[in-house]
Amino acid sequence: MKLSDFLNQNKLMLSFEVFPPKTDSSFQSVKNATEEIAKLTPSFMSVTYGAGGGTSRYTLEIAKNITESYGVPTLAHLTCVSSTKETVRRKIQEMKAAGIENVMALRGDLTPELMGSDRGTWAYRYASDLIRDIKESGADFCIGGACYPEVHPESENQGEDIKHLKEKVDAGCSFLTTQMFFDNNLLYNFLYKIREAGITVPVIPGVMPITNANQVERAIKLSGSFMPQRFKSLVDKFGHSPDAMKQAGIAYATDQIIDLFANGITNVHVYSMNKPDVAAKIQANLSDILG
Ligand code: FAD
Repeated sequence: MKLSDFLNQNKLMLSFEVFPPKTDSSFQSVKNATEEIAKLTPSFMSVTYGAGGGTSRYTLEIAKNITESYGVPTLAHLTCVSSTKETVRRKIQEMKAAGIENVMALRGDLTPELMGSDRGTWAYRYASDLIRDIKESGADFCIGGACYPEVHPESENQGEDIKHLKEKVDAGCSFLTTQMFFDNNLLYNFLYKIREAGITVPVIPGVMPITNANQVERAIKLSGSFMPQRFKSLVDKFGHSPDAMKQAGIAYATDQIIDLFANGITNVHVYSMNKPDVAAKIQANLSDILG
């Protein structure tokens, strides 16, 4: 099922993100974790491509299994910046053959090696190049793109970032998913600005439950997210106790999601990071709200 078929509905929904195994030997345990999350019947599950240290070659296998075995629609991520046109064309064919209907088209992060190379030689500079290629290939995917309520780190300012986001959407995005954020006001402000810039596609806010203190530093490094004082106090107080931090982090994420729903958002994407217990707890906290 294409995500564009249901993202505009008024029903409140949760979706979850998982990442592929980092090694062959962890394949089975990752597969089991993604199946436990699929049993929660979220609106959809996204499977990252190489992000967070996961290997990209299992993205399709995990996504295919979730849809075929559990009937949960999947969104397979694909990055392009270090790829050749041939590799991307082959990936698109593999996705079609695997029955994938939804693709998250991403540029991918710039490695130090890429940063030192001549950009003129790159087959893909931006995610919009990949989106145009997917469209040209004739593949009938529902395509999503990433967006950044706190501005992409390489952008000079938010105006430039939103201008390029509009170009990306115009290239063929049916929806956008946001980078994680810990202060909902940043999201509301961003939504106001992109709507004003003429971006009308559904935006799925991404919420990351921080369930251990070590995750905080990694999350900030990865996303550059602003940490509100309320969140910092919680980490200060409970960070030393794994159980308490987990409970507090889940409560914080739940609170963020309730506020998003109360302010008109219908689908929230939870960066559940292959943790079925965290996904289940958040869903249980929202059981009456989700109905
Ligand atoms: P782009 O949309 O290409 O934007 C990158 C930068 O280029 C921005 O600053 C933008 O403003 C600028 N830009 C765009 N077009 C132009 C132009 N024409 N001229 C000048 N500047 C321009 N990474 C992975 O490796 N695997 C994943 O699975 C993955 N999943 C992600 C999911 C989400 C929801 C998010 C938010 C990020 C994800 N990432 C993933 C990280 C992502 O690859 C990085 O954030 C990357 O640095 C940017 O990717 P993008 O697709 O947003 O790039």
